[in-house]
Amino acid sequence: MNTFSFAPRDLPPETDALRAEVRGFLDETLRDFPPAKRAFTWSGGDPAFSRKVGERGWIGMTWPTKYGGGGRSAFERYVVLEEMLTAGAPVGAHWVGDRQSGPLLLRYGTEAQRARVLPSTCRGESFFCIGMSEPDSGSDLASIRARAVPTDGGWIVNGTKLWTSGAAAAHYMIALFRTAPETEARHAGLSQFIVDLSGPGITVRAIRDLAGSDHFCEVVFEDAFVAADMLVGEEGGGWRQVMAELAYERSGPERYLSCYPLLAALMRELPSAPSERQAIEIGRQVAHLATLRAMSISVAGMLDAGDNPALEAALVKDIGCVFEQALPGLAQSLLEVAPRVDAGATDYQQVLAHCVQNAPSFSLRGGTREILRGIIARGLGLR
Ligand SMILES: Cc1cc2nc3c(=O)[nH]c(=O)nc-3n(C[C@H](O)[C@H](O)[C@H](O)COP(=O)(O)OP(=O)(O)OC[C@H]3O[C@@H](n4cnc5c(N)ncnc54)[C@H](O)[C@@H]3O)c2cc1C
Repeated sequence: MNTFSFAPRDLPPETDALRAEVRGFLDETLRDFPPAKRAFTWSGGDPAFSRKVGERGWIGMTWPTKYGGGGRSAFERYVVLEEMLTAGAPVGAHWVGDRQSGPLLLRYGTEAQRARVLPSTCRGESFFCIGMSEPDSGSDLASIRARAVPTDGGWIVNGTKLWTSGAAAAHYMIALFRTAPETEARHAGLSQFIVDLSGPGITVRAIRDLAGSDHFCEVVFEDAFVAADMLVGEEGGGWRQVMAELAYERSGPERYLSCYPLLAALMRELPSAPSERQAIEIGRQVAHLATLRAMSISVAGMLDAGDNPALEAALVKDIGCVFEQALPGLAQSLLEVAPRVDAGATDYQQVLAHCVQNAPSFSLRGGTREILRGIIARGLGLR
């Protein structure tokens, strides 16, 4: 049987000064940023905030300096992410580019592609979205139908991407398209492209979700032209590349910190002399949080060492998701305060309402619970 391990890692001492610097920046920049907006954490985007983060050198921190990156360690990046997420900073605009599109291009992109998009990404001026899911193709990603057909100087694309977070504010999509007819080898014939979303033949429509937010989009391609030099990596090698990209997508602390603003607000809201049950439950959550944090820092260490922690990342995402999905229910069982979003609602009620409404989606985005558990089982040699 295969195994996995999470070697304990201490954050290096140089991260202390960085943490203090990030905290100071956030205290000042977000002084008037209300709790209800902080509840969005990495789902909330603000291009002006992203530019400020870029000015500080906190986007693309681990990327080579020749592309505008910081050449810093995965631990330093971890500390910045942790501070941003626990403060509920609106990091959503640059999140995807920093987390996965940039690293994907560093691994599979050409020099020209890197030179074209990475520096502006580091400055917080270019944003990316993820073009994987389609109508009828989510978990079964190999069944996508959006097709790129060769033409003079590039490709003509037709099809639809769905549930594309942040597409309306993004400049680029890293898109997975079918570039060869489907055969019995289901994972063959798929390729990745950088798509400039401002091009003709591309329509981005926002989709309003049940909680009233419209970060989701449908992106329709109608004879859209994508230049040949925008093919990422190998033609037909899209499946392998997408799997590598998903490991970046699943490995970060955002997979257990999405409801952190609620946990912090709950602790503020509880009486200073809590009941025994309240104290036990808060202690239990904080212990879970500390364990998840240790696992996540361990994954940062694996990334720093150049390993591929896909199995460990799937585990952290799955366990982290169980943790953060349980928090809204726990909060309601510890305090008899109803979630509310109307004008008279308190800050705590609004944060609670946000988490109650959005937590169900946590085990869908980035791969569903069942899919992750299948990956874990396969990684352990159980299937
Ligand atoms: C908040 C949010 C943001 C998202 N952002 C993006 C984005 O930016 N870009 C993007 O491309 N996509 C995005 N998605 C889409 C997301 O990746 C898909 O919703 C997800 O992969 C599931 O696909 P589906 O919705 O088609 O459900 P389905 O794949 O139809 O799954 C339905 C149910 O069946 C289960 N199931 C499916 N197959 C199996 C199996 N083989 N074994 C066991 N159970 C199975 C699933 O676990 C699930 O419970 C986002 C989704 C959410 C909720």
